[in-house]
Amino acid sequence: MSQNFVEAGQLYIVATPIGNLADITERAIGVLSQVDLIACEDTRHTQRLLNHLAISNKTISLHDHNERQRQDYFLELLRSGQSIALVSDAGTPLISDPGFHIVSFLREHDIVIVPVPGACAAISALSVAGLPTDRFTFEGFLPSKSGARQKILAELADESRTMVFYDAPRRAIDTVADIVEVLGGDRHVVMARELTKTFETVYSDSAENLHQWLSEDPNQLKGEMVLMIAGKPKNTTGISPEITKALEILLEELPPKKACAVAAKIYGVKKNTLYDFALSLKR
Ligand code: SAM
Repeated sequence: MSQNFVEAGQLYIVATPIGNLADITERAIGVLSQVDLIACEDTRHTQRLLNHLAISNKTISLHDHNERQRQDYFLELLRSGQSIALVSDAGTPLISDPGFHIVSFLREHDIVIVPVPGACAAISALSVAGLPTDRFTFEGFLPSKSGARQKILAELADESRTMVFYDAPRRAIDTVADIVEVLGGDRHVVMARELTKTFETVYSDSAENLHQWLSEDPNQLKGEMVLMIAGKPKNTTGISPEITKALEILLEELPPKKACAVAAKIYGVKKNTLYDFALSLKR
């Protein structure tokens, strides 16, 4: 390899594949081969990737529990002109992965930090979901306990942007059950599973149908997954949140025409102004 990919004294944040090893970039291979040291979330895990790429280089562990311990050592190495690459087990470091502390520490000490972009499960999932991507919010992992999870979902109930979550396979069905309970079974959800791998599956449907599908086919709960929830459509009608809430409750019991008539009577508004809005709520 004749090209020089690395400069002295710099930290490289290197993305690695999230399944398909062919997704490593030429630049990532160059950087991993040429740095003086590779800091890994798990050295044994990264060693398998390095073996596959026929790279023999020095590795050191860097994870949530030793980032602070290692900070001065890393600063010293970088200031003495060594170059370091940071990788996580898969995808882009720092995205629900270790590295935040060391990056902010080294940045405060004026070390040049260089991104070497590549795979990221959240972005890969969004790119195939068919949900709006002009604005989205990345929520990482939801809490493992249902009560705490429901609380966060309730806080996000009115979020109008697409919401992206990482989830563990063993609890995904409970997460989807909580989505049904807190956001309603009609909410559009996309599950992207095992991206770039043999059993890659993208399922797009209502939360209720997704829950049923997962209950009927437990194989779909294996592997790694990203859950994406469609944002709540913005109310641009000028109809107040109070009337909207009342209308939503009435629509559970009454046909749209009747529900609008009752709400119009209670709030002293014209029922025609409510009708199209009621139909969109119903949808
Ligand atoms: N830093 C990584 C990234 O850039 O995507 C994410 C690390 S986080 C600890 C691991 C989570 O990412 C998994 O639990 C899963 O939610 C998601 N994930 C990773 N690989 C995936 C894949 N191939 N398909 C779907 N989701 C994946």
